[in-house]
Amino acid sequence: MIPYKSPTFKTTAFNCPHCGAFSNQFWSDTYFNSNSNGFYNITSLKYAQCTHCVQYSLLHREKMIYPLTGGTALPNNDLPDDVKSDYEEARTIVNQSPRGATALLRLAIQKLCIHLGEKGRNINEDIKNLVEKGLPIKVQQSLDIVRVIGNNAVHPGQIDLTDDVETASKLFVMINIIAEVMITQPKEVDKLFNSLPENQLEGIKQRDSK
Ligand SMILES: [Zn+2]
Repeated sequence: MIPYKSPTFKTTAFNCPHCGAFSNQFWSDTYFNSNSNGFYNITSLKYAQCTHCVQYSLLHREKMIYPLTGGTALPNNDLPDDVKSDYEEARTIVNQSPRGATALLRLAIQKLCIHLGEKGRNINEDIKNLVEKGLPIKVQQSLDIVRVIGNNAVHPGQIDLTDDVETASKLFVMINIIAEVMITQPKEVDKLFNSLPENQLEGIKQRDSK
């Protein structure tokens, strides 16, 4: 799993909200040009430029105001398109509407379960089955704590008044972890295995069939 450092004020490097790279950030002050009186420093507004993609972020009073996706990681590339689009939409609204974002993310987890071969009707059952297929039990426990599953679960897509940015942030991370463990890693292992020499693979097959 790629480590993720969310953008914070004046840190020299973080994961760029545009390109996702962990990159150095070039910080500048911002100025307001008053024609008659010259330039004024807008002290509450800072400009950070990514040295990797050259795109910029704006932080107002230490909070990212551009791009809107702020401090959330890009979605795992192996997520199916419908889950990815829910995830992306949730990223763009999380700071303005954490409750809306969280509702979308719960829905995204349900869709991801269906993509992973589960029924999508009872998310408790689906996650339990995924644990049997190799999802770490701690992911299941974490999903319980953020009320995706368990006795206090909120129905996918439903707005819950107590959801906040922190809950949403955890759900972004968990969706990427589920994708990493259940899709990306098996894919990488398959790729590695298939690149092994034919005669050695044959030997392994014979050993395993004994
Ligand atoms: Zn960048």
